[in-house]
Amino acid sequence: MSVPARHDRSDALAAVQAEVPHLTITDDAELVRRRSTDRSNMLGPLMASEVGGSLADAVAMPANEREVIDLVAACARHRVPVVPRGSGTSNFGQSIPLEGGIVVDLSRLKGVIRIDEGSVRVRAGTLLPEIDEAAAPLGRELRIHPSSKRMSTAAGFVIGGHGGVGSIRHGGLADLGNVAGLRVVTVEEQPRTIELRGEETGLVQFSFGMSGLVTEVEFPLTVAHPWRDIALTFPTFGDAMRFGGDVTLADGLDVKNCMPMDPIMASYLVPLEGCFPADRAGALCMVASHSVEGLADLAARRGGSITMDVAVGEGPRGFPGYEYTWGHAMWWLRKQQPTLAEVLFLLPPVDPVGTLLTLLDEIGEPNWVSSTCQRFAGRPAPQVALGVDGSVPGRIGEVAAAAEALDCLVVNIHQAKLGASSIRDFGPEQRAFKAAVDPLGICNPGHLADPDLDPAASDHASEAARLAASGWSSRFAGS
Ligand SMILES: Cc1cc2nc3c(=O)[nH]c(=O)nc-3n(C[C@H](O)[C@H](O)[C@H](O)COP(=O)(O)OP(=O)(O)OC[C@H]3O[C@@H](n4cnc5c(N)ncnc54)[C@H](O)[C@@H]3O)c2cc1C
Repeated sequence: MSVPARHDRSDALAAVQAEVPHLTITDDAELVRRRSTDRSNMLGPLMASEVGGSLADAVAMPANEREVIDLVAACARHRVPVVPRGSGTSNFGQSIPLEGGIVVDLSRLKGVIRIDEGSVRVRAGTLLPEIDEAAAPLGRELRIHPSSKRMSTAAGFVIGGHGGVGSIRHGGLADLGNVAGLRVVTVEEQPRTIELRGEETGLVQFSFGMSGLVTEVEFPLTVAHPWRDIALTFPTFGDAMRFGGDVTLADGLDVKNCMPMDPIMASYLVPLEGCFPADRAGALCMVASHSVEGLADLAARRGGSITMDVAVGEGPRGFPGYEYTWGHAMWWLRKQQPTLAEVLFLLPPVDPVGTLLTLLDEIGEPNWVSSTCQRFAGRPAPQVALGVDGSVPGRIGEVAAAAEALDCLVVNIHQAKLGASSIRDFGPEQRAFKAAVDPLGICNPGHLADPDLDPAASDHASEAARLAASGWSSRFAGS
């Protein structure tokens, strides 16, 4: 049996519903619309033309793994695509049902299954703050979380995200050990459950929901410190960037996050306006209270000083400091400048700061620029989010090409397909695993780039697909 065409799917959907009468599968237009979108319009205008108005056919919200298995089995029998979903906060288009089907909202699979000082195992839809609440009595917390922590689910972060707060010390999710285990339901007429451990979890991590439905996630835990939100000011952006490099390597300091930024970027973080004097660069850090003195000493070496020191979340308007960093930096910029688009890249290991300053000189726009400090495989890998005027045709591509020409590794965040130009490639091992767990090709279809297609050589490729972007896989080597 082949996958029924979208216009001819109503019989198949009715047949699925008949096989799982204990589950509600709804085609309520408003719910379908809301569950068919994510935050992908946040990074610029190109994604909208990539994903069009893609809509699911229906939405289901299973309450437990048994219901997930029943639903997936029925969908496989009737060849209806399934699109797993957590909170829909992803911004690379990965939650969007490009070929319709049933969005399987897993946010009802909640709760901690077991926890000890070393690790925690949770159901897929558990929100990340719920994990830290469970770990707090043990004096532990998640090693890494996205800046979207308060909205995101455990499985959504592992399958759609890559790193964030904590990556300055622990690396990205791709670094071995940062995801301990995953339980995956295969998309077959008789679904299997598979437990992936350690390195095997890399087969599914950052898979855009194409490699089965994850029902449980196991994370390692780390020491929870009384964290402080620290704002700092520096004479120049170069000083702030060099400070970021110093902090990344200062292993004696317990630091969870650090984002140096240009004076213009600092001025867009409106609630923090008192912390960042005009025309000076800034940095935001999340530091254990016992490491604040050391941080101040490091800052002084680059001419910097502390302008705010509060417990996390007790700064102006109650935002935790990390909600200005990582994915949130562009959110703050676009709040005031909605035409901005993001070019995202890693700086080269040799002369990273000089390279960034050269690039900013070359592109000659206002510097809407911030850099999140992180490591890959133990090595510093500063990530830069650069705002460019997305309303100027071709501008995103020009700036991406200029960054690539300076040996920066640009990642293509403007198309909803996973491939070599992405944060993580979907290589032969991941493809083989996908084929084994999704033999019918109905698990979030449409998101896999064709490895043999060179968009630059194709007349039909979209502007997004043509962006100059090496992707980051080469920097994960050895992770
Ligand atoms: C303001 C903002 C800041 C952000 N900051 C960061 C950041 O710092 N770091 C970062 O990595 N990301 C960041 N993101 C992106 C995103 O929030 C995270 O990756 C997030 O963890 C996704 O979680 P979610 O529950 O919303 O997943 P969703 O968006 O619902 O899903 C993400 C992907 O995972 C798949 N998926 C979800 N659940 C399952 C499941 N149970 N089984 C199989 N597949 C599944 C979906 O199909 C989709 O492809 C940010 C986004 C925003 C809007």
